[in-house]
Amino acid sequence: MRTVSLIVDAMPELGITRVSRWIFNCYVIHSGGGDAVVVDAGLPTAADDLRPILEGLPGRVLAIVATHGHSDHAGGVAELAKRHNCPVYLPAVTLTYLKGTRPRTPTLLDTARIWPTLVSQPLDVGGVLGLVKGSRLAGFGTSGGMRWTGPPPAGGLVDGQQLPGVSAWSVVDAPGHTDDSIAFWNKTTRTLLSGDAVLSTRGRAWHTPEIVDTAAANRTRSRLEQLPVAHLLPGHGRPVHADTTVWQHQRH
Ligand SMILES: [Zn+2]
Repeated sequence: MRTVSLIVDAMPELGITRVSRWIFNCYVIHSGGGDAVVVDAGLPTAADDLRPILEGLPGRVLAIVATHGHSDHAGGVAELAKRHNCPVYLPAVTLTYLKGTRPRTPTLLDTARIWPTLVSQPLDVGGVLGLVKGSRLAGFGTSGGMRWTGPPPAGGLVDGQQLPGVSAWSVVDAPGHTDDSIAFWNKTTRTLLSGDAVLSTRGRAWHTPEIVDTAAANRTRSRLEQLPVAHLLPGHGRPVHADTTVWQHQRH
């Protein structure tokens, strides 16, 4: 069941490959030189799931980055970093959690509000088991605070900076879902890797209702909608591609 449920979605025009199980999206950003940066290696199976893609690269894995510290975005980082001997970058706010600051996380009730995304793709048992296992490995989302078994992060990602190794991509702060949420924006291809700030359901963008901070989420929403996003690659849900912008036919 696990093998058939693995989704590999190559988007060469965007320089990205999506590797997913159920609603859990991991993205490989390909650099012009044949190297790659991995975004949101969330499931413990990530290293195996990504193997065919990463071993086929002409170059190497330059970095692993995460859009926030939730377990389903960080649970596979340790194993992947070990295998590829590459640096890990987390949002700057996530680094404060590693030092003991307690993260705020949406309640179970908030999480239940994203059901339209959850039911829009067939359930994959491997993905669910991976989520459970990954929550014991790294990240937060439970009462246990932030767990980390990966290497000490090489740095914290802050608003406006270029992504290490792939300078066409920049960091956009996107708090609301969590305080540490960030997104990645490529203005040339008009692609937004939105993490959990924006999800998708039935082919439409959807600012997540699963939030810890309403004011921050509203600010993030306004800011992201200033970006002329033609390709939305969300943390959960299928990619959304639009002729104009993905905001035009978004779910409200
Ligand atoms: Zn999350």
